[in-house]
Amino acid sequence: MDNHTVPYTTLQHLRIVMVETSHPGNIGSAARAMKTMGIKDLRLVTPRKPYSQETWALASGANDIIEQAKIVPTLQDAVADCQIVIGASARSERTLQWPQMDARECGTFVAAHLPQQQKIALVFGRERTGLTNEELDHCNTLVHIPMAFDFLSLNIAMAIQVLGYECATAVRLATPDQSVTADPEEALASAEALEGFYTHLEQLMIDTRFLDPENPRLLMRRMRRLFGRAGVTVSEMNILRGMLAAFAGRKFRERS
Ligand code: SAH
Repeated sequence: MDNHTVPYTTLQHLRIVMVETSHPGNIGSAARAMKTMGIKDLRLVTPRKPYSQETWALASGANDIIEQAKIVPTLQDAVADCQIVIGASARSERTLQWPQMDARECGTFVAAHLPQQQKIALVFGRERTGLTNEELDHCNTLVHIPMAFDFLSLNIAMAIQVLGYECATAVRLATPDQSVTADPEEALASAEALEGFYTHLEQLMIDTRFLDPENPRLLMRRMRRLFGRAGVTVSEMNILRGMLAAFAGRKFRERS
């Protein structure tokens, strides 16, 4: 492969998710940005308007991406089969900090994980309001494209272009890590598996009165931040679920 060619097959596992996009034209521009970078998988979470003439005009040769795009009701549905979920944020600070990368670090991170057959989602928010905190809870990490002014934001398709470029470039430059194991037990657990774990953990914390459902504070968000940062593997997830089940058994035996 010559040095200017992006290995498109590697980018097959990269998904772009657009949440409640308002302008049909932006979906067309996003598809064009994706196609130019060799990214094909587009999921749309409840777009606010149907496709319009502008969608197809701005897609300009990337119609196939829109035709194959899946429309789903929630962000959770869009990322259920992904092991890594990265939220693109126009802001660089939040009250409770989620881990954050800049665009270049994101490219390097994606290039390091894609060859392991892991599905990675890059999630983009609404044009006016971005992503909600609840949606950020479904992300392992955030990415911010540094800008000259903090009070501005990029057009969503341009943000997709920049991050798509960084990912494609990093993939092109990366030499595959031969030490990476192909053992499925050592692959990262999926978002769906993590959601099951959080539900289990929360219920057990409520049952043991560690967590007061009337006053939950930020406990679950902090737990999501902790485990999202950890990069839990399939085998580690089995241990965690086994531990929770064992703790629950202990509690019930003590009561009887
Ligand atoms: N006022 C909104 C801006 C949304 S722009 C806000 O403060 O969140 C629409 C989407 O484009 C954002 O949700 C984000 O996914 C993406 N985006 C815009 N500028 C970005 C930047 N500098 N870095 C990363 N993503 C950006």
